[in-house]
Amino acid sequence: MGAGWAGLAAAVSLADRGIPATVFEASRSLGGRARRVSSEGTDLDNGQHILIGAYRQTLALMRTVGAAPEKLLMRVPLELRFDDGFHLRAPRLPYPLNLLAALLGARGLNFAQGMAAIRFMSRMRAPRFSIEPDCSVAQLLEAHEQRGALRRYLWEPLCLSALNTPLTRASAQVFANVLRDGLTGARENSDLLLPRTDLGLLFPVPAAAFIGAHGGSVEMGVAVRRISRDGTAFVLDDSPQRFSHVIIACAPQHAAALFDVFPGLDEARRTIESLQYEPIYTCYLRYPDGVHLPSPMLGLTGPMSQWVFDRGQLSGPKGLLAVVISASGAHEALPQQELAGRIHEELKVALPGLPEPRWTRVIGEKRATFSCTPGLARPAISTPVQGLYLAGDYTASDYPGTLEAAVRSGLAAARLIIST
Ligand SMILES: Cc1cc2nc3c(=O)[nH]c(=O)nc-3n(C[C@H](O)[C@H](O)[C@H](O)COP(=O)(O)OP(=O)(O)OC[C@H]3O[C@@H](n4cnc5c(N)ncnc54)[C@H](O)[C@@H]3O)c2cc1C
Repeated sequence: MGAGWAGLAAAVSLADRGIPATVFEASRSLGGRARRVSSEGTDLDNGQHILIGAYRQTLALMRTVGAAPEKLLMRVPLELRFDDGFHLRAPRLPYPLNLLAALLGARGLNFAQGMAAIRFMSRMRAPRFSIEPDCSVAQLLEAHEQRGALRRYLWEPLCLSALNTPLTRASAQVFANVLRDGLTGARENSDLLLPRTDLGLLFPVPAAAFIGAHGGSVEMGVAVRRISRDGTAFVLDDSPQRFSHVIIACAPQHAAALFDVFPGLDEARRTIESLQYEPIYTCYLRYPDGVHLPSPMLGLTGPMSQWVFDRGQLSGPKGLLAVVISASGAHEALPQQELAGRIHEELKVALPGLPEPRWTRVIGEKRATFSCTPGLARPAISTPVQGLYLAGDYTASDYPGTLEAAVRSGLAAARLIIST
């Protein structure tokens, strides 16, 4: 149950192997935290999302459901461009030349800093990106003398974007996993993939169509409140239907509420209840059509705003900017209108002469992802209850709370069912 990316991934994978699945979704929209929303007559996303080339399972699954990544995602080589002139761009060269050239040629890093970053990456490679014992990203960076501009423009933005957790609390091991998969290996791994369409069309909507076309179904507006047993079968609420397997693919805070009947799930419940969460705020600002950024994505020196995306260059309409603030911070205390006003003022520094926005909309997801802290225990996908599985970005994985983690968990749950 749950038509987020995890639940849909599981159902697509089952349907693809001729096992029809029914997906129950509490809300009226597909995609969970990565869904389309509408405001002021404009299709927006619940939060601006970005994928990377290393999201292999997500990209493969998009192809399975007929959502061509080549068409629906703008693929650009790794580029970190900031409003104060910092600019790092990986050329289209094979790895590791792309990374070496990016670090040594970055505007805003001197030669010594570029070399320090290269040394850091090779020291991480030697023990195969294993951090023993796990510590915070801040401690890791300090131990490898990754300070100043390197920390400010490179490692901190990567950590916030991927782990959605401040450096001082983020897991160095999970950060290392992201560096391993995102910055090393094939050059394409580090490519940034920016959605050219709303998040619904990117995967959830074609996924639901695929499930329907393969004998399954997606039932919208059905919140499952209770799972029980009838012999070896599962019963959902008072429905007469019986199910051989159940995948709970809700966000963690909703999943644990369904564990009541099964004492075997006590440990998973305790693990889930000990998770903490981080917010992500997306502020949409609609300017006149002529307003645009020098590139589809620009880093902001804040102090609050972190990234701005030019939706006009992506999924439209022209003049629509989306500013993202990951992880917890002072911005959470501000009323939405005041926050939008502050963000507009910060944007004016990057874009002198910026006119007043026609409208603004702040979407604050308080529990955008779990807080990805060192040594964090995450519940396994298989449970002690035979036939019952968990899926979601929070389940045990070497990835932080991301689309790829959600998709991988759904695929893994489906594999477990197929193998029984
Ligand atoms: C603002 C924001 C920005 C983000 N940016 C990025 C990004 O740039 N890149 C990236 O990779 N990741 C990003 N993420 C993370 C990514 O969106 C999540 O990791 C992913 O969507 C989680 O998917 P999921 O399927 O595990 O859970 P969810 O998306 O939470 O799906 C769970 C579904 O279960 C449903 N449900 C809950 N309870 C019940 C019930 N009782 N019965 C039936 N259905 C139920 C919910 O309605 C929901 O649809 C972002 C997240 C947010 C919020």
